[in-house]
Amino acid sequence: MTRKLFVTTALPYANAPFHLGHIMEYIQADIWVRHQRMSGHEVNFVCADDAHGAPIMIAAEKAGLTPQEFVGQIAAGRKQYLDGFHIQFDNWHSTDGAENHELSQDIYRKLKAAGFITSKTIEQFYDPVKNMFLPDRYIKGECPKCGAKDQYGDSCEVCSAVYAPTELKNPYSVLTGATPIMKSSEHFFFKLSDEKCVEFLRGWALQDNRLQSEVANKCKEWLEGEGGLGDWDISRDAPYFGIEIPDQPGKYFYVWLDAPVGYLASLKNYFNKTGKNFDAFMADPKTEQIHFIGKDITYFHTLFWPAMLKFSGYKTPDNVYAHGFVTVSGEKMSKSRGTGISPLRYLDIGMNPEWLRYYFAAKLNAKVEDLDMNPDDFVARVNSDLIGKYINIASRAAGFITKRFDGKVNTTWATADDAFLQNLRAVTTEIQALYEARDFGKALRAVMEQADVINAYVDANKPWELAKQEGNEAKLQEVCSRLLEAFRILTIFLKPVLPHLASQVEAQLNIGALQWADVYAPLPDQHTINPYVHLMQRVDPLIFDQLFDAPVAAESTAAAATATPSIEPIADEIKIDDFAKVDLRIAKIVNCEHVEGSDKLLRLTLDVGEGKTRNVFSGIKSAYQPEQLIGKFTVMVANLAPRKMKFGMSEGMVLAASAADEKANPGLYILEAWPGAEPGMRVR
Ligand SMILES: [Zn+2]
Repeated sequence: MTRKLFVTTALPYANAPFHLGHIMEYIQADIWVRHQRMSGHEVNFVCADDAHGAPIMIAAEKAGLTPQEFVGQIAAGRKQYLDGFHIQFDNWHSTDGAENHELSQDIYRKLKAAGFITSKTIEQFYDPVKNMFLPDRYIKGECPKCGAKDQYGDSCEVCSAVYAPTELKNPYSVLTGATPIMKSSEHFFFKLSDEKCVEFLRGWALQDNRLQSEVANKCKEWLEGEGGLGDWDISRDAPYFGIEIPDQPGKYFYVWLDAPVGYLASLKNYFNKTGKNFDAFMADPKTEQIHFIGKDITYFHTLFWPAMLKFSGYKTPDNVYAHGFVTVSGEKMSKSRGTGISPLRYLDIGMNPEWLRYYFAAKLNAKVEDLDMNPDDFVARVNSDLIGKYINIASRAAGFITKRFDGKVNTTWATADDAFLQNLRAVTTEIQALYEARDFGKALRAVMEQADVINAYVDANKPWELAKQEGNEAKLQEVCSRLLEAFRILTIFLKPVLPHLASQVEAQLNIGALQWADVYAPLPDQHTINPYVHLMQRVDPLIFDQLFDAPVAAESTAAAATATPSIEPIADEIKIDDFAKVDLRIAKIVNCEHVEGSDKLLRLTLDVGEGKTRNVFSGIKSAYQPEQLIGKFTVMVANLAPRKMKFGMSEGMVLAASAADEKANPGLYILEAWPGAEPGMRVR
């Protein structure tokens, strides 16, 4: 039975390029979608830029552009990421598109007609200079609890207190510095608290297999929590970049109202372009609507969105699948800690996009768990599993077929009751089910178990020895043909994850695009393959040093506004043993020079009493001239793994102090030891 699928990822906000978390989500959904396509199902996989809201309006104004121009520039940058990581959306649209204006207004009108829209007058901070109401994030002031300065209108970064913007002491507008005034305005609300709404959501969210159990439990808490669901404020006052509310001049939909409607708008836009009927597709009870999202936006997708659709008479989502965040070596990605990763840089430095697809897939499961990207683990999985176990099968067999048998395989042995084939084919259903359930890590483990079996067959039959023995020609051809057939089947198993590699294998084996059904259709006897070319390089572990942002000071040159330096929160408590792992040493700066081609780095030559010097690159050029540092004694991390950087190897890191918000407070202060300290002394 052919499924009709409408699949989306969350809409990225169009104020910045993609980060690694976006790419992870798209890869997750793309793998699932490719699995469906290989099964012969109809899939419509779409996304769009989330283009509206105050942050974009303000950023555009700062850039001297209209909001449309601003989001247009962001949109123009999307393709290189998507193509680069082989992410194959059928359509990429914008929530500012005409379809979204129509659909959002239609949904609103229907909700209103059904009695789900109400209005009330609320008081809000207003910037009298800019003449606009201020979102919480655009109001700063002193924390009402601890008195810390320059805190946002919703929470304090120093003491973590949460409060309303009206509670701030000495509030000011981030946009103009003006003292905001209280002003009232009529706002429109979606009546989420309506009994019918709550009842519907309870049934929808708790239906078996609709949501992951963690998400369903969370919904239950929201639905049954104290006070239940509140009505949802869906309007904003002009000036606002968004969609006008029908018959309410000067009022716009809050961006979160029209953003998810963008899923439908992108599908409609795609159908309009391809001549398909949107209304008929959405009305078909067979259509399945599936959203892949991050865990931080489940509230919007499991309460607001299904309720909006239900009471405006639209189809409600069949599944919402949430994933966790990407961490790097156990930490949140951070430029200042050197754990930020730019997806474009990944591609620019020549890292293979399918390494990342394979690595993410190997770590993904169906739960809402964070995914940790760890360089050592990455190298191990790609080099040992993907290349060592899988790619090597082809490289060991294909050469003999080309050189000794004119490229022709012998598959007369490949009958339905051949045990070698039967065993391999037998795992197909399990692997398909694991892809279906988004348990990609388990799917890849099952594939690698089969690769182990095939490699054991290689070791037992040693084609390279058969090749040297007289009279074993037929045996050699059969062994190599079995290996190529096994490789072909493993390629089908891996194709959702490695689509580009699979297409290279298809070219090499001289066959058409592989589908799931092809597991059972072996290469025809006497089929001619093309000569083997190497399919994939190993990862050089040193390449990671080019991938990560340089630590500490790399971003500090872009000084923006001035503000008092804020103190970052103290990190999680550690044991003395944890601290002892960090080997800090007194280092003498014996030489220091500029690095040609770098506007951030200085090259330090350090003596740490080892009888040789060390070369260390440090992002402190903005703060020091080389001659200021030569001869000084400082502190370095002496047991940090060497990092290969663009300009050479860095063998350690010197310590420097900086403010939490390095952009606003670019000052950098290197540590200096008191007189008497000698190179190599341990700092403890
Ligand atoms: Zn505070």
